[in-house]
Amino acid sequence: MERPLIDGFGRRHRDLRISVTDRCNFRCGYCMPAEGLEWLPRSELLTFEEIERVARLLVERHGVDSIRLTGGEPTVRANLPELVRRLSTLGVDLALTTNGATLRMLAGPLAEAGLRRINVSLDSLRADRFAELTLRDDLPRVLDGIDAALEAGLDPVKVNVVVMRDVNDDELVDFARFGRDRGVVVRFIEFMPLDADQAWSDGAVVGLEEIVARIGEAFPLEPVARTSAPASRFRYVDGGGEIGVVASVTRSFCDSCDRIRLTADGQFRNCLFAVDEHDLRGLLRSGASDDDLSDLMERAVGAKWAGHGIGTVEFIRPARSMSQIGG
Ligand code: SAM
Ligand code: SF4
Repeated sequence: MERPLIDGFGRRHRDLRISVTDRCNFRCGYCMPAEGLEWLPRSELLTFEEIERVARLLVERHGVDSIRLTGGEPTVRANLPELVRRLSTLGVDLALTTNGATLRMLAGPLAEAGLRRINVSLDSLRADRFAELTLRDDLPRVLDGIDAALEAGLDPVKVNVVVMRDVNDDELVDFARFGRDRGVVVRFIEFMPLDADQAWSDGAVVGLEEIVARIGEAFPLEPVARTSAPASRFRYVDGGGEIGVVASVTRSFCDSCDRIRLTADGQFRNCLFAVDEHDLRGLLRSGASDDDLSDLMERAVGAKWAGHGIGTVEFIRPARSMSQIGG
């Protein structure tokens, strides 16, 4: 089916997400099947040198000024602080998304290497439910990891919560209270159809309006003016901080999305929901010039659809799931 395109780097794409591994020590059901996935062989992962080359090109030629490392679970990639050190020389806003389980050990070295900001994913504050959702009994380690990130001076520390109906939506107010008490911004994310088990349905999504209304009953909220960031922001009227809602499903932000992605195996993607990938690794390993790499990325961004189409007949589910693409 023909879909409308946007004009590539003609609209500046400044936000690069780099997946550094497809591996993960957790098995969140909305992201990975319980039995795990077949991991990429090591030789298929981009090396730190290859990642740095692509990132440098995007920063120096194409105006990228924000890089987030993700996965899979980025902290299971050996020597992650070394990659952070290399990327920190690019002078961009450098961030990481992690499940938080190893932050007690890694938050300090990551901060010293030049990491500035961190998002920790946490979908339940109840130990039994956390274990059911992740298949790991690690809630205390993740909570301690959040403290370690704050102690290491990472700022801001944000907590990402994927909200799923009848799974964890009864914890909305608990999470709001947690954020207020700990001084962290909680970002509620609408459940997206990228789960490996393909169990997603419309009915499992708890939308922005409902999230804000339910939290607002306990702690009144008011909107904060929107930027190009994907989260809609709301602040507590009593000055107790703010929350974000990433409403990818009920209020998609494709019109202002300026994000591009590099997968762990070196595929360039112009959208989380793209069904086509562009083989940068092949070019990198066949002696391509910087111009060749730039051309491929420009063509890829030029072929970006105007919208993901979730909930319409046009929607096509990507072949790879969230942990393989890099959330
Ligand atoms: N392992 C790291 C983590 O959990 O933060 C980084 C990778 S994970 C794929 C990145 C983010 O994607 C997490 O915040 C996770 O909750 C979110 N995510 C995964 N599957 C999702 C889905 N089906 N819908 C919405 N968010 C999802
Ligand atoms: Fe692993 Fe993150 Fe996916 Fe959970 S959300 S399975 S921690 S990659």
